[in-house]
Amino acid sequence: MQQQTNRQITAAVPKDAAAVILLSKDGTKVLWAQRNPELKFLGGFHGFPGGKLDRDDEFCDVRKAADKDQAALIACAVREVFEEVGVLLVRNGEKLTKGQRASLHDDLVAGRFKFSEILETWGLWIDAADFSYTGIWTTPEFSPMRYKTRFFIAVCPEKQIPYPAITELQKIEFIEPNAALKLWNDSNVLIAPPVLISLRALETAIQKHPADDRKMIENSARSLLKTSSRADGNIDFIELNSRLICLPLRTKTLPPATHTNCFIAGGQRFVVIDAAAKEPSEHQKLFSVVDKMIETGAECAAIIVSHLHKDHFGAETALKSHLQTKYSLDVPIAAHQLTAESLDGIVSFDRLIEDQEVFELSDRYGKQFELRAPHTPGHARGHLCFYDEELGFLLSSDNVVGFGTVVIAPPEGNMIDYLRSLVRMKELPNLNFLCGSHGAANADARLKIEEYIDHRLMREKQIAEALKNGISDAETIAHTVYPHLDPPLMRLGVNSVRAHIEKLQTVGEGLNF
Ligand SMILES: [Zn+2]
Repeated sequence: MQQQTNRQITAAVPKDAAAVILLSKDGTKVLWAQRNPELKFLGGFHGFPGGKLDRDDEFCDVRKAADKDQAALIACAVREVFEEVGVLLVRNGEKLTKGQRASLHDDLVAGRFKFSEILETWGLWIDAADFSYTGIWTTPEFSPMRYKTRFFIAVCPEKQIPYPAITELQKIEFIEPNAALKLWNDSNVLIAPPVLISLRALETAIQKHPADDRKMIENSARSLLKTSSRADGNIDFIELNSRLICLPLRTKTLPPATHTNCFIAGGQRFVVIDAAAKEPSEHQKLFSVVDKMIETGAECAAIIVSHLHKDHFGAETALKSHLQTKYSLDVPIAAHQLTAESLDGIVSFDRLIEDQEVFELSDRYGKQFELRAPHTPGHARGHLCFYDEELGFLLSSDNVVGFGTVVIAPPEGNMIDYLRSLVRMKELPNLNFLCGSHGAANADARLKIEEYIDHRLMREKQIAEALKNGISDAETIAHTVYPHLDPPLMRLGVNSVRAHIEKLQTVGEGLNF
C-alpha cells in the first residue's frame, strides 16, 4: 500500500460455499440483489443469493444427489436462498402458506431450529434434480475473505415471491440478463466475475432458446460448466465495467493487502496503470491480458505509474520491452513529474503527466471516452488518481483503498494536501464508484471518501487533545491513538501522527485550508 514491509501475508483459505442462479418461472429473468454496502465481502456489489457451508447442511434430506458432498452443498444453497430471500426450494413445500414459511424463516434465522430439523418436522425434502450445477468459482487470493462457491441454476416455485428476508441483500428483483448487463455496461452496478459470467451465459442461452426454458437452462449450465472448468475455477481479472479491468498482481505491499490492483482502462485504445508486480510469473499474467488486447487490434497508449511507492511499479519496464520485442510497439511510460524525479535512476519515464491531463481512450466497441488524471498529493507528492467522468468511476490509487488504512508519512506525505485531495475527489462531478489500489471496488464513492475525511478529523481531534494536555511526543501519542496497531506497523502510525501535528501547527483543526 505505501511502503514495503518484510512481513509476508499468506492468502486466506477459501471456505466452501454455494449460490443459486434463481430463474423466474418462465425462465426469462434471473434474481439478483445488491449486497448490503456494509458487508465486508463485496459490499454494494450485485449478486445472487448464497453463502458458506454450515455444519448442519450435511444433515438435510437431499435426494438424488451424486454424493454426500454435493448433497450438503445443495442443502447449503437452498438454506441460503431461504434465509436471504425467503424462497423455499423444497419438495412438498406447496402445502405451506406464506405465513407458515415466514414463521419457519423466523425460526431459522433466530436459531430456534436448524434447517435440517425444519425440513424433517414439516415433511419437506430437497430434490437434487431441481438444481443444475454450473461449476465452481474461487475468490482470488488478493481478498482477505475467500470462498469456493458452487453455483446452481434453479427455478423459483410458483406463488413464492422473493423479498429481502434479512439485511444482507437489498433491492431484490427478477431482471432480464440483458437488462442486468446493460446496467453493468453503463457502470450503474458492480458485479463480481462469476455473476457477470453467469449473466452472459444466460443471455446467450435465452436468445438461442427463447421459448424453451428447459433447453435454456441445460444450455446455460453446460456453457457455464465449461467456462468454469477451463479456468479451473480461478478468476484472472475483474471487469469493473465495459471499459475497465482490474488485475490484482502480487506485490510486497503493506498488510493486510497482498496485491496491488493493476488497471487496464479502455478497450481499443487503453492505458495500463500500476503494472506493479516484480515476480516474473505475475508479469506473465499481465502480459497475457495485454497481448490478447493487442492481438485483437487494440492500442496501448501509455503505461502509467500512479505514484512512487514500490508496490506500484515493477512490471512497467518489462511490459514496455515485451511490447517492443513482440509487436515492435513503442509505448511510453508516464508519471507525474514529482514521481519521475523521485524514481530517477530506477524507472525511465518517457513522458510526464500534468494535473488534470486527459487521456483520449476508446472502449472495446471503439467508442471514445476521456480518462482524466487529477494530481492528488498527500499520500505521496506526485500521486495521481484517474477519473472516467462519463461513467462516474474513480481510480483512487492509494488515497482511498478497499481495506487497510492509508499512511501519510512526512516528508513525502502531507496531511493538508491529503485532506485537500480527498475533498477534491469527493467533489468530482458525476462521481459514483471508486476502486483503490488494494481491495475491491466501492459502490458509493462519495460516502467512502467522506468516511476517510471523518476518520482523519476524528484522529486529528485525539491528537489535538493530546497536544493540549502537554503531550507533544509523536511516539507517545501514537501508542495512545493506535493502541491495537501491530508493533511492526507502529512506525507508520508514528509517522501519521507527525503528519497530523504538522497540519495542526500549520492550519489548525478541521478543513480550514
Ligand atoms: Zn502508496
